Amino acid sequence: MVNVETEAPNIRAKDAIPVAEEVPPFAFVLVKLASRCNINCTYCYWFRDAEVYNKPAVLTIEAEDAFCQRLEQHIEEFELDQFVLIFHGGEPLLFPKHRFVELQEKLLDIEDRTGCEISRGVCTNAILIDREWADILKSYNVTVSVSLDGPPDIHDKYRVDFKGRGTHADTLRGIAFLRAEGIEPGRSRFVTRTPTLNRFYRMWSKSSA
Ligand code: SF4
Repeated sequence: MVNVETEAPNIRAKDAIPVAEEVPPFAFVLVKLASRCNINCTYCYWFRDAEVYNKPAVLTIEAEDAFCQRLEQHIEEFELDQFVLIFHGGEPLLFPKHRFVELQEKLLDIEDRTGCEISRGVCTNAILIDREWADILKSYNVTVSVSLDGPPDIHDKYRVDFKGRGTHADTLRGIAFLRAEGIEPGRSRFVTRTPTLNRFYRMWSKSSA
């Protein structure tokens, strides 16, 4: 029999598990602006759950205001000087443009009141990006990450609309609007095989040239 008092390893739980005051306050939040999408990717996990359709299509104004209020409290409580927000979905640009602008203004007000710099980014399939969206994103200094899986033969196999049609050309059109405003988007992609990754980088380098 083991005598726990004398033979148990001399490690206290306090030493093994970080205690609350050692955990830094969070300074990053992913904000789901929309719980719907304008396309129907074959690998999308989000819409496999029918419950998604019971949620509001876009962030409600009540939830938006509650979020901004809580964000400001958090920044003040922990005296943060930097915070990162990433707008996500579904497709976040289903969020109405005027509401997106109003949200950015609320965030600027929080920056003014707290002195905290709130960096903003959006992850999008870029299909809805037009000149106006590109202008809004540039005006509010929102960085953009675009989902693109590679050349058309790969991208169009998985990233399809609700009629099964590929969306590669639509995504490139959105990227062109961004570039016309001087915004160079980052990329996120779903990779199936290493050759796919190689072809992706070749295609992106050519399109950036
Ligand atoms: S763009 Fe994103 S959210 Fe929309 S269907 Fe494709 S993976 Fe899902």
